[in-house]
Amino acid sequence: MNLEIDRDRLTEQIEELAGISDAEPPAVTRIVFSPADLRARAWLIARCEKAGLAIRQDAVGNIFARWVGSDANAAAVGTGSHIDAIPNAGKYDGVVGVLGGLEAIRALQRCGAHPKHSIELLLFTSEEPTRFGIGCLGSRLLSGTMTPDAARKLIDKDGASLEEVRRNAGYSAPLEEVKLPSGYYKAFVELHIEQGPLLEQQKVPLGIVTSIAAPASLRFTVEGAGGHAGAVLMPERRDALCAAAELILAIENAAKSSGAIDTVATVGICDVFPGAVNSIPSRVRLTLDIRDTDLSRRDAAMRAIEAARQTIAAKRQVAISEEIVNADAPAQCAPEIVEALLQACAKHGLASMKMVSRAYHDSLFMSRIAPVAMLFIPCRNGYSHRPDEYASPEDIARGALVLAETLASLAG
Ligand SMILES: [Zn+2]
Repeated sequence: MNLEIDRDRLTEQIEELAGISDAEPPAVTRIVFSPADLRARAWLIARCEKAGLAIRQDAVGNIFARWVGSDANAAAVGTGSHIDAIPNAGKYDGVVGVLGGLEAIRALQRCGAHPKHSIELLLFTSEEPTRFGIGCLGSRLLSGTMTPDAARKLIDKDGASLEEVRRNAGYSAPLEEVKLPSGYYKAFVELHIEQGPLLEQQKVPLGIVTSIAAPASLRFTVEGAGGHAGAVLMPERRDALCAAAELILAIENAAKSSGAIDTVATVGICDVFPGAVNSIPSRVRLTLDIRDTDLSRRDAAMRAIEAARQTIAAKRQVAISEEIVNADAPAQCAPEIVEALLQACAKHGLASMKMVSRAYHDSLFMSRIAPVAMLFIPCRNGYSHRPDEYASPEDIARGALVLAETLASLAG
């Protein structure tokens, strides 16, 4: 088998897809089910059809593009990622796994492979939490991690429900049909940029992920008392923003003092009401994203934050309510896929290292219904979720090559 990746075409397609966006280049913004996202989906489907893949779309817009194997009834080998992008993001997050996966399939077709198991490219809906406040929507539903009832309750910040938005996008089947039967995938491998600096620092072209860190996401609402910025004197105040500021610092401290560098906590949104220069903030909404590779350590940090919440609320006489949006367990990658990836690297004389994924991926949820692993390629300075995110054509092609080799060995 003489596997060759068409690096130029892959690079061209990444550029072309980056052009389907709601941001000024080089930035990319593609929010799920926005007109840009729908155009990008149509663009991708056309390319998959050109490669002879059979397309299926489910009720939440996950797209399956299947190269049917010689045993059409055997469990498929899956690969894929996402193409939705947060506001002002880059070109490579998710896209490398989707277009790299498509190119891997085409490379196998070109070299005359006839896999026994079907090989399926999967585009996940809404990996990014931008629109509905929860990430990995498609894979949560595919894996049964989220129930259709819970999904039906999702609304975006303009008040549009997921039900409404998906129907307008042309996806109207019942959400109950999304969950995959167990045994649907024999294996699932996701190619992705590292989104961290380790591969670049160690000058290793490929990272083989052995576990995916456990993220949790919470919302806090601080309710104090508003009033005139001149008339209410300091001893009388119950300023919601001042309480929120203390909570944010307590969150930072909980992560810093967990005893391990792997604990990370971020408050990324802070909405202040009423938000006027001469009005005391009466209400603040905060989000918290906290992650760790170790579930018990993350839970300990969350307990420290919980204690701080109660102390600050009592001291400042404000109410601080907390809502857990999700608290997911970490995933371990399947040893047999890790081994297949290692062997694929060795076969092509490429160095690799085992690593932990600290970012959130659809593979985390796919691990609940299928054996999974991930393959990382370097990205410049570890930058991601910003317009200067960059992975070189050489690194992307190497990733697609190892992916193709791995898919071939898994598909038999
Ligand atoms: Zn991603």
